[in-house]
Amino acid sequence: MKKLLFLVAWFGLVACSSDSTEEKQENITSHPFGVMASGDSITAYVLKNKAGMEVEILNLGGIISRWTAPDAQGEFADITLGVTNPQDYRGAAKYLGALIGRFGNRIAHGSFTLDGKTYTLAKNNGPNALHGGEEGFDAKIWQVEPLEGPDPALKLTYTSVDGEEGYPGNLSVEVIYTLQADNALRIDYRATTDQPTVVNLTNHAYFNLKGEGNGDIVDHELEMKASRYLPVDIGLIPEGGPAEVKGTPFDFRMSRRIGEAINDTTHVQIKRGGGYDHCWIFDDTTQTLKSVALVVEPSSGRTLEVLTTEPAVQFYTGNFLDGKALGKSGKPYTFRSGFCLETQHYPDSPNQKTFPTTTLRPGQTYRSTTVYKLGVRER
Ligand code: BGC
Repeated sequence: MKKLLFLVAWFGLVACSSDSTEEKQENITSHPFGVMASGDSITAYVLKNKAGMEVEILNLGGIISRWTAPDAQGEFADITLGVTNPQDYRGAAKYLGALIGRFGNRIAHGSFTLDGKTYTLAKNNGPNALHGGEEGFDAKIWQVEPLEGPDPALKLTYTSVDGEEGYPGNLSVEVIYTLQADNALRIDYRATTDQPTVVNLTNHAYFNLKGEGNGDIVDHELEMKASRYLPVDIGLIPEGGPAEVKGTPFDFRMSRRIGEAINDTTHVQIKRGGGYDHCWIFDDTTQTLKSVALVVEPSSGRTLEVLTTEPAVQFYTGNFLDGKALGKSGKPYTFRSGFCLETQHYPDSPNQKTFPTTTLRPGQTYRSTTVYKLGVRER
């Protein structure tokens, strides 16, 4: 009998220890997310850290489809906009949470000249090209490889062939998402090409720190280390060079409610953007990883800090969200129900010679890092 008890206890121990090994490995899990109209099956990967934060990422477009973060009381909420049917990411929910490329933001008249050769892109945004074309990187199926290491990470790869969406050169792209122990999601981008081309990669997560589907974002407070922004023409193409933010609705050098001047249509730029839909230039444009923006949501206490190696950010307040996309908790995503801080180079750089270059040549490696760090501030 004694022997039997000993054996039972021993098996118990073995079972427990194998459970805890599994737990350790379970900081990355995957599950089916649905099927596209094309028949492609979509997989969701969930990264989980020790603080209980979860980030769900799809092989479709590298989309961040869910991201849970605690508030000041430790209550978790899903703070990014997303949908449950993957096909919707090709329609009403286009760009939500997705990787954007080969060229994020707009290129005027869907055309640019590089080394004397003119390239023609699809005009998918009025007269201009937007976010990589009709079928940008947000719409592609990426290869996903979970990475071993202390922090759960995913390596996503995609090869954009020469001529895809009109861009020259075979471009090999690698994006690594790492969920850190400090509740930060780090995104490392890399790309190489076999012909001169242009590259401007970003992520298009829409945040609502109150929780997705929970009203609009105008009461969030934003601070950005940027004294200049790029005024735009009516098609949202930068026009007339950088302008000072001082004394304008674009001044976020000191923390300010996003909604404070968002409807000040006496300012022509607010009118053109329908609110904020502009590129801010950081005071520090060096390629170092620096803290550039801080968002605070006063009712929950949640905060979002943005660090990047990029020189600029497109701050977009969801002015085109019109309720057509039905969010994952069943609520429609209406006007300004999310905001984006899309770190990047300046829009239309291939056509504006005074802007920092976005040209990538064979032998060079495009490198960019952005960190979105969630935190809390006591109320
Ligand atoms: C652009 C907006 C556009 C949105 C699409 C943003 O990056 O600046 O004008 O409507 O993307 O989701």
